[in-house]
Amino acid sequence: MSAAVVLGLDVGGSSVKYRLASATPSERIPEALAQGTVSTPKKDPVAGLAAIARDVTGSHRLVAVVVAIPGLVDETTGTVLRSANLPALDGLALGPALSAELDATVGVINDGRAAAVAEARWGAGAGERDVFTLALGTGIAGSHIVDGRVVDGAHGIAGELGHVVVEPSGAVCACGQRGCLETVIGAPALRRAWNRAGGDGSPKDLLAAYEAGDERAHRVVDRGAGALADAILTLLALVDPGVIVVGGGLASAPHRIVVRARALVDERATFHRVPPIVPATLGKWAGAVGAVAEARELAARVPVGISLN
Ligand SMILES: [Zn+2]
Repeated sequence: MSAAVVLGLDVGGSSVKYRLASATPSERIPEALAQGTVSTPKKDPVAGLAAIARDVTGSHRLVAVVVAIPGLVDETTGTVLRSANLPALDGLALGPALSAELDATVGVINDGRAAAVAEARWGAGAGERDVFTLALGTGIAGSHIVDGRVVDGAHGIAGELGHVVVEPSGAVCACGQRGCLETVIGAPALRRAWNRAGGDGSPKDLLAAYEAGDERAHRVVDRGAGALADAILTLLALVDPGVIVVGGGLASAPHRIVVRARALVDERATFHRVPPIVPATLGKWAGAVGAVAEARELAARVPVGISLN
C-alpha cells in the first residue's frame, strides 16, 4: 500500500502554498515531502483546490487535508463564514465539499491561527510553553498559545490585541470602537499618520525616514511605540506570556516600533515580568506548516479503515 500522507494548504488571495507530509504523528516539525506555491483557483474553488491536492499527492494515499483561509471560519463545520480576499469562498461549506471530492478528512482553519501555532511550536516560540504571537500588517492579529494549542476563550475571540483601546478619543476602528491599537499601528493607520506629518509613501518609507533621522518620522514612530507599549503592558498583566513573537506582512517597518515599544515597556513595567520579544522565524511558510500539522492531528483522530464520507 502507498504511504499515508497529509496535506496543508495555505490559501491566499493570489497564491496557495502547500506542504505535504507523512501522516505519522510526531512532536517535530512536519518534514515536507513536497512544498511549493501555485495560483489560487478563482472560479470553482472546491474543484480547483481538489485538483491541487491530487497533483501534489501523486501516488501517495491522502488521508487528511487542512485548508488555512484568510478570514472567519467555523472550524467545527468546516465552513468559511467570511473572507475579504476570497469572496468565492464566502458561506461555503468548504470542508465537507472538499472531503467528498478527495475521499479524505478535511479541516478548515484561519490562516493566522495556523501560522501562530507553527511559530509557537517550531518557530521563534519553540521550547516555551506559553507563547503570545502578534502579526503586524493591515490589521493586528494576536494568538495566545499554551502547550502548542491556541487558548481562544469561551467564544473563540481571545487574543485580539489589535482591538485593545489605547487612545480612547482616537479614530474609529473597523470593529466600531474608538482608538484601538490597530487605528494607531495598523499599516493603513501608519501610512495616514506619516502622510499627515508631511511624509511621503508607505510604512516602509516611514521606516527609511526614521533610520535617516527624520524628526517627523520619529514622532510617528514614537506615537506608535507608545500605543504598542500600552497594549503590551496590558497583555503582560493579563496573560504573562513566556515569549512574545512578532511577525506579519509589514514586520520590517513596524519592527522599529516594536524595538521602541520594548524600551518603553522596560521603563514602565512594575510588577510585570517582561518576556523576550522576538521576530517570527518561519516566514511565509508558517501557515502551511501549521495547516499540515493540524492535518496530521486530524488524521490521528480518524480511526483506520473508517471513511467519513
Ligand atoms: Zn478595533
